Amino acid sequence: MFRSPKTEWDVSKDLSKRIIDPWTVAQQQQHLSGEIALSSLPRLLTQLEQPQGQVCIDWQFQIITHRAVIVGHIDVQLILQCQRCLQPLSWSTRLNTALCPLKPGQTEQNLPAGFESISLSAERILLSDLVEDEVLLAVPFAPFHEQCPAHDYAADNRVEDNDVSTMEAQHHPFQALAALKQHTNDKKPS
Ligand SMILES: [Zn+2]
Repeated sequence: MFRSPKTEWDVSKDLSKRIIDPWTVAQQQQHLSGEIALSSLPRLLTQLEQPQGQVCIDWQFQIITHRAVIVGHIDVQLILQCQRCLQPLSWSTRLNTALCPLKPGQTEQNLPAGFESISLSAERILLSDLVEDEVLLAVPFAPFHEQCPAHDYAADNRVEDNDVSTMEAQHHPFQALAALKQHTNDKKPS
């Protein structure tokens, strides 16, 4: 049986707890690709309808014009809550990354063209913090379905109600008759 050569994605790396020094990682030109569990993104979690899942990152760290930069993308698939019908709403996107992390005290001067700066509070950081910042910027503030399923749902309920009343109408006469008989028996003088 033919099998395609293994890629990095065959064994998805869990990067949820990875701590990095972006400048060292950039000097080493590291390529970080793998998954970060949604459960390790607490600020994002508060905006989610369902906490299960992960985001996938494919980030290349490198040095451009003496700056550490990150290029690549983040694949996101989240379950949000529709703000119109309050039902779950699946939202997915690919976010392109072109980031220039700034060390504490470093300024935005001479930023490489096309890169967005991000100020970091420490030299060693949780990779997930960096990813969470990027995802939070992209998540829609008040998401809603293009066409809410609520209307279909309400219509289905009405049909079901009708079915139930039809069934009741069919079965009720016998039950009513039985009850009436019982009632009559009770009332019979002994
Ligand atoms: Zn909706």
